[in-house]
Amino acid sequence: MENNYTVLARKYRSQDFESLIGQDVLVKTLTTAINTGRIAHAYIFTGIRGTGKTSTARILAKALNCLSSDRATSKPCGVCENCRAIAAGQHIDVMEIDAASHTGVDNMREILDAALYRPTNARYKVYIIDEVHMLSTSAFNALLKTLEEPPAHVIFILATTEIRKVPVTILSRCQRFDLARVPVETLKKHFAWVAEQEGIELSDGANELLARSADGSVRDGLSLLDQAIAQTGGHVDEGAVLDMLKRTDRGTVVNFMKTVLSGDVNAALNRLDEIYNNGADLTMLLNDMMEWTHWATRMYPSLRLTEVTSSPYTADMRETIKKINETISLNTLSRIWQVMVAAVPELAASTNQKQCFDMLIVRLMHIADMPSIPELLKQNSENTTPIKQPEKPVVEKSKFLDINTSNELGTALQNARELLLYSYYSSNIEIVEFENGKIKYFDRKGEKDFAQKLALWLKNNTGKDWTLEPVTEAPHKQTLSEHNKSEIESDPLVSSAMDLFEDAEIVNISK
Ligand SMILES: [Zn+2]
Repeated sequence: MENNYTVLARKYRSQDFESLIGQDVLVKTLTTAINTGRIAHAYIFTGIRGTGKTSTARILAKALNCLSSDRATSKPCGVCENCRAIAAGQHIDVMEIDAASHTGVDNMREILDAALYRPTNARYKVYIIDEVHMLSTSAFNALLKTLEEPPAHVIFILATTEIRKVPVTILSRCQRFDLARVPVETLKKHFAWVAEQEGIELSDGANELLARSADGSVRDGLSLLDQAIAQTGGHVDEGAVLDMLKRTDRGTVVNFMKTVLSGDVNAALNRLDEIYNNGADLTMLLNDMMEWTHWATRMYPSLRLTEVTSSPYTADMRETIKKINETISLNTLSRIWQVMVAAVPELAASTNQKQCFDMLIVRLMHIADMPSIPELLKQNSENTTPIKQPEKPVVEKSKFLDINTSNELGTALQNARELLLYSYYSSNIEIVEFENGKIKYFDRKGEKDFAQKLALWLKNNTGKDWTLEPVTEAPHKQTLSEHNKSEIESDPLVSSAMDLFEDAEIVNISK
């Protein structure tokens, strides 16, 4: 490899709006605005790393200052003096400031003082402030002052990965664009094209692995491709990428399943964070967990299958699996399998795989601590009911929910798979008054952000603001899960079952 090798991410950085990858909405809005002369004084771009924030900022700066047109153009030529200087980050009127190293107020003032002078070679003086959330409060105030009365020739382009850390006063003066995570298919197409340009053999399987590992970031994906090319000398196949990506090894998966099935949500989610941060691909992790479930089932003692030596696990790992099997039922294993199978397309379609996986883990834990007797009884009683109520029509996703009772809220939370919120609500909240739009309640545990989370969820799902009014004195009413439990216990079928199994106890109820 030559010494002056340019990393792919830089070499193939988008130079115009058309070649921005996976940001169709942003491109359409921005180009329309430029073409119709509606140019804002401040823009803010937000999104995870490697989605093209800085590239977009530079393209916008070129669009504003390209010499091929006598005004801003959505198609900067890329070859004029201004375009070339901006692309190289060397234009005298286009300042690229890394907020991380200019956090102080003095720095910021100095920069902003210069904004008063007219541009030297360009139509607009452009300030690109990267990672703007890193600025100190006083630096933000200095920036705000300029944003309040910007000179006509000044444009600010702010970029951040953490929009929540940017003060609202700044945000309200900017036109905001959210850069989306780039979908796997789009990444694959781009990587295939780059490989072709570079004369590299990139197999479809290897490309798929790279695109999934990139997790929505073009830059991350291209640096993986860089690394793969360096390691393979240009024949990038699936095996090489698997090695490079350090696919989570089986021992880790076995221990992870042990943590998940132990019922400790915190430990399981922390462990998942570690595995994720080590670069594990969540799709592959799910595959490995399914492999685990399959073999744990085959090894289940009551099935009395012959000792499974063909499993991919070592003797130590098999010993661990046997111990786990002693704590869960066969029914549980098969439900775990079902939930995992259902999670495969969900994970593939998700724009935030990590969130999706967190919820999967919570769901698995929910299943793991579920008793199977009430479950079976419930199914049984449903089967013997002579006249079945017609199924309620499925409410279209776009329609808002109509929630009138605590019970309906519980069901809605479960249906939405808001399991953390549901479990907190059903086990800690005593309802004083419940009507559509207002809940007066007592919180046994008093978790600080519960009300906020629930209010937000309600607003998003019912389309209106709810009043959540906590009371300080316990009304000593049943929580939702206590209520459900006593209702189940009074069911004659259940009570006869409870008599039959002396030590039986209702631990959890699931629909
Ligand atoms: Zn130009």
